[in-house]
Amino acid sequence: MHDDNYSDEWSLETLAIRAGHERTFEQEHSEPIFPTSSFVYGSAAEAARKFGGKESGNVYSRFTNPTVHTFERRLAALEGGERCVATSSGMSAILATVLALLSAGDEIVASRSLFGSTVSLFDKYFGKFGITTRYVELSDLDAWEAAITPKTRLLFAETPSNPLSEVADIKALSALAKRNDAWLAIDNCFLTPALQQPIALGADLVIHSATKYLDGQGRAVGGAVVGKHDVLEEVFGVVRTCGPCMSPFNAWIFTKGLETLSLRMKAHCEQALTLAQWLDAHPAVSKVYYSGLVDHPQHGLAKQQQDGFGAVLGFEVIFGQEGAWQVIDATRMLSITGNLGDVKTTITHPATTTHGRLSDAQRAAAGITPGLVRVAVGLESQRDIQTDLARGLDALLKG
Ligand SMILES: *Cc1c(COP(=O)(O)O)cnc(C)c1O
Repeated sequence: MHDDNYSDEWSLETLAIRAGHERTFEQEHSEPIFPTSSFVYGSAAEAARKFGGKESGNVYSRFTNPTVHTFERRLAALEGGERCVATSSGMSAILATVLALLSAGDEIVASRSLFGSTVSLFDKYFGKFGITTRYVELSDLDAWEAAITPKTRLLFAETPSNPLSEVADIKALSALAKRNDAWLAIDNCFLTPALQQPIALGADLVIHSATKYLDGQGRAVGGAVVGKHDVLEEVFGVVRTCGPCMSPFNAWIFTKGLETLSLRMKAHCEQALTLAQWLDAHPAVSKVYYSGLVDHPQHGLAKQQQDGFGAVLGFEVIFGQEGAWQVIDATRMLSITGNLGDVKTTITHPATTTHGRLSDAQRAAAGITPGLVRVAVGLESQRDIQTDLARGLDALLKG
């Protein structure tokens, strides 16, 4: 018998291509898009049953849409989660998670080097409603433990970190969360399930910005939360009621993006490792931050918990900010942008962009020096990427 929807025996590469699509009566081969806001019923009684939740089925695309469900089922399968809820963005995935699970007076413990908007969301907005967040060094387990209080309900980490590629021990964090009756949420944006599966390591929730590698081609903004049925039912309730839902068109883009996820992530990792080694040997580069390099402090842990090292790396150039800006401005091909997770290589100066709103002291604590440059390595030719960076780096040596 042909089961197009799912088989537990399929490996990740197969799930990414085939899981989640429930073929319609049209017998389409490729996943269809359902750009409709609502659905109709055969009778008043059927409408009543569906509205009342007594019968499952499509009602309204804020919370039930077949294209969005295909993406949700596929991503849940890849992450090894029972259920996935798609959201309008990565930020709304984090928003929906916290709204679903926490109340005023609860506390979050989070890693210090988080995506900038996540910090704003935690401090400015959740803070306003009495949910407070403490930040700790990502790889320092004792610091996590010390920050936990009886009010702590959620541990939240991004691993590896951006842009210094620090790695958290997900298994150890999960044990810590369980001992303290808290949830562990991992933002898996940088590695994706192709390279890291936090649920298998004990995480309760996986958060995604689908905007990045799940699409992988910079076409759409979206997000997702993956985890167990009961927890995800709460997240679903928030999305249903508060409305940060994924559009069917974006869900279709992400679903098709997932089909090439494994292949792309493998290629991204190879590109990044080659570039990191090349940068490491360049005399105008004083330090490279990439967990794929053997002298990275968490290289061993990264190797154990990840199936690859990802494609975001940081490097420090000589002459501080002036040197960093010169290297960035000398590029002709790389995209100068804060975005990442694209087949196009992007280059950023974190101290004046992604981390520009931090105070000098906060920046120093996060290890964001003036000479630091971040590259999210894409899939152009390695030679062309190196040529583009060498122009500025070589010029620095000439003074
Ligand atoms: C981009 C990003 C987000 C936010 O996602 P959006 O889709 O831009 O809302 C969250 N976490 C990480 C690690 C990100 O890189």
